[in-house]
Amino acid sequence: MILTVTLNPSVDISYKLNQLEIDNVNRTSSVSKTAGGKGLNVTRVLFQANSPVIATGFKGGYLGAFIEDELNASQIKNSFYPIKEETRNCIAVLHEGNQTEILESGPYISTDELQGFIKHFEELMDEVQLVVFSGSLPAGVPVNYYSDLIKICNHKSIPVIADTSGIALTTLLERSNKPFAIKPNLDELSQILGYTVSENITEMKNALKHEMFNGIQWIFVSLGANGSIVKHADEYYKVNIPKIGVVNPVGSGDATVAGFASAYSKDKSVIEIIKTANTFGMLNAMEQQTGCINIDKFEGLYKQIKIIEV
Ligand code: ADP
Repeated sequence: MILTVTLNPSVDISYKLNQLEIDNVNRTSSVSKTAGGKGLNVTRVLFQANSPVIATGFKGGYLGAFIEDELNASQIKNSFYPIKEETRNCIAVLHEGNQTEILESGPYISTDELQGFIKHFEELMDEVQLVVFSGSLPAGVPVNYYSDLIKICNHKSIPVIADTSGIALTTLLERSNKPFAIKPNLDELSQILGYTVSENITEMKNALKHEMFNGIQWIFVSLGANGSIVKHADEYYKVNIPKIGVVNPVGSGDATVAGFASAYSKDKSVIEIIKTANTFGMLNAMEQQTGCINIDKFEGLYKQIKIIEV
């Protein structure tokens, strides 16, 4: 069983408009409301890939209940921890080929709730073999919270994949409790290193030798349409992927994480894990819905991936 952790989930609302009129009333009947957040994308993709998964995180109020109902309706196992404040909405307005987003920062998590979640998380640990942390930390959550959770996992020898960015990622890398794997994209990698990293392989290898990455088994740097560069132990791989018909690449990083988790939990080889992760990323980019793959197209893409040790 893979446990996904989404501390700041959202009900994602998408409104389609022919035209966005500023400072005026905009009406639409084209509305969709879905359970969102990076960790829930990972969850859905794992479910679609027939990998046993359970989702956790904080849930509050009606919107928290909405998320639970959506997961239950899809028969996705979940065990969210209740909080006092309301789960957030994230709004995307699709207009004239643009996507204008309004992202709520989300609920404030109290000290009691933080402690309560740790206990809840420890209880869930009994049935899981791999944990995935995805996304940002809601207000009230200390920057070292992921590290505290990772410490629990490391203590139980349960590997952790951490996919976050900014201060949450830097803090996590500074602490002694390291995740097993991380999946930064080029922007996130540049942000934590403090300079712009290019896709040049020598430059990338030097960047990944930085001491902040010591003790991390897998670093999966995703490069969008250009595939990825992967560091596993002391080996480096460049992953070349085929050209595909891209429909919506949002959430491809989350699908990549799901692919990694799925293959790793099935004891696949290093090369198979890398190929599966990239294939899942591509499969997501070929679908309209964020955090969604058509597993029937897996084989056709998988066999076209070329991996070179660099
Ligand atoms: P993130 O969503 O975290 O920014 P990326 O955009 O790097 O992640 O995408 C993750 C993976 O998904 C890539 O390594 C690749 O396998 C696949 N992917 C993403 N965008 C495309 C694209 N435009 N064409 C083909 N594959 C893509």
